[in-house]
Amino acid sequence: RVRTRFAPSPTGYLHVGGLRTALYNYLFAKRMNGDFVIRIEDTDQSRKVEDAEKNLISTFEWAGIIADESPMHGGNYGPYVQSQRLSIYRDYCTRLLEDKNAYYCFSTSEELEENRQLQLKQGLQPKYNRKWLPEEMGGNMPESEIKKKLDEGVPYVVRMKVPDYVSVWFEDMIRGPIEFDSATIDDQVLMKSDGFPTYHFASVIDDHLMEFTHIIRGEEWLPSMPKHLLLYEFFGWEPPKFAHLPLLLNPDRSKLSKRQGDVAVEDYMRKGYSNEAIVNFVALLGWNEGEGSEQEVFSMEELISKFSLERVGKAGAVFNVEKLSWLEKQYIKTRPVEMIVGNIKPVLQARLAEFSPEMPVERISSDDYLGKVVELMRERVNFEHEFVTFSSYFFFEPESYEEEAVAKRWTPNVPPLLQEFVEVLEANDDFTAENIEAQLKAFVAPKGLKPAVLIHPLRIAASGVSFGPSLYHMLEVLGKEAVLRRIRRAIE
Ligand code: GLU
Repeated sequence: RVRTRFAPSPTGYLHVGGLRTALYNYLFAKRMNGDFVIRIEDTDQSRKVEDAEKNLISTFEWAGIIADESPMHGGNYGPYVQSQRLSIYRDYCTRLLEDKNAYYCFSTSEELEENRQLQLKQGLQPKYNRKWLPEEMGGNMPESEIKKKLDEGVPYVVRMKVPDYVSVWFEDMIRGPIEFDSATIDDQVLMKSDGFPTYHFASVIDDHLMEFTHIIRGEEWLPSMPKHLLLYEFFGWEPPKFAHLPLLLNPDRSKLSKRQGDVAVEDYMRKGYSNEAIVNFVALLGWNEGEGSEQEVFSMEELISKFSLERVGKAGAVFNVEKLSWLEKQYIKTRPVEMIVGNIKPVLQARLAEFSPEMPVERISSDDYLGKVVELMRERVNFEHEFVTFSSYFFFEPESYEEEAVAKRWTPNVPPLLQEFVEVLEANDDFTAENIEAQLKAFVAPKGLKPAVLIHPLRIAASGVSFGPSLYHMLEVLGKEAVLRRIRRAIE
């Protein structure tokens, strides 16, 4: 059975790159009828943020990425939070020490830094100098010295002993075979002096114990592969398959950074992007359906049935926000009206509270009415919340009129003309766009006037602003009662 995981460190927010990694893991597992698991990697206690874990999981639920196992959902391989698994890591660390694949290191941070500077000066890649590697493991430190420090209770870390002169290789599902020379690998710290494991150690142990078959993660973890592979070898475990996803890039092809735009999923949620558009957008950051396919809008079900790692490229994926906005518009155009109505109702209710209580409010609890507004406006909005902001006049009577438009269009002959036209509309028993248009034309023609003389003032009177959908359709949706009331108020 295929098992994949997303293993975030709870450092506060979900990066769009993290959402992509989680999504690809989810799609890959679901495509294979496998399990997708969320494991929290909180072994760096200094970076831990309160509630980050809950926020992460609720963001995933919002996105429709539902874990089969997680700290919230439970499962047979728990606990799913690394800080609750410390005794497991300790036991495995003891095993490595006994097998002489790891050793105690008492070097202080000052010593380490001094060593680092020295190596940098010599033009070398900094590596631990193996001061505390025991004699019996090929180092210079007598066993008695190590025992003495341990007995004195001096703080230590545990390091892995990287074998000399071996090469480590694996086959990446996206990049193909990759080889590393052990000379370039540092004696990685596995256990820190606070008794917590490092990421490398804990994640290898958990990936094995939780029986993951495929590890799909960002390219930034590729350099860690030799350390991980050596750990699998030390324990005699068969490694899972690995796939390292391409980097996310800014449009100028630099690495995606906060400086050039938002990188937190929450930022996009707050701006009003929908889960469908964000998931669709993120899915296309590195994956495509294949040659000849023009399709760009994919539902989660389609993604599950079409996703494959073979179609994930090696090249960095450009994060293009315009594409996200375009997708959002596609979703607004096709989303069922009832769904949009359901979504905007609470927003309208909230807005009602800010509105002057004496001003008339138009049928905001009528689904039928809201549906008509949605149909008329869906081509014109970029986000669902704009049904409420840009089309506010459908729901709330204008409190003021756009000054510039009034100065230009509200000429002295307008009020008497509107006064007269209101009576004409009053007699209209079938208040459709077509009829209103016919009435207006029939009204101005004998006076030798152009329809524009009334079109603009009518729009201002009805909506307060100079732009919007077709005037006649707008009036039809607003309805006779509201339209007459608004015209009368405007010419008062
Ligand atoms: N905790 C690591 C991260 O924050 C997980 C890396 C991995 O998937 O192995 O990205």
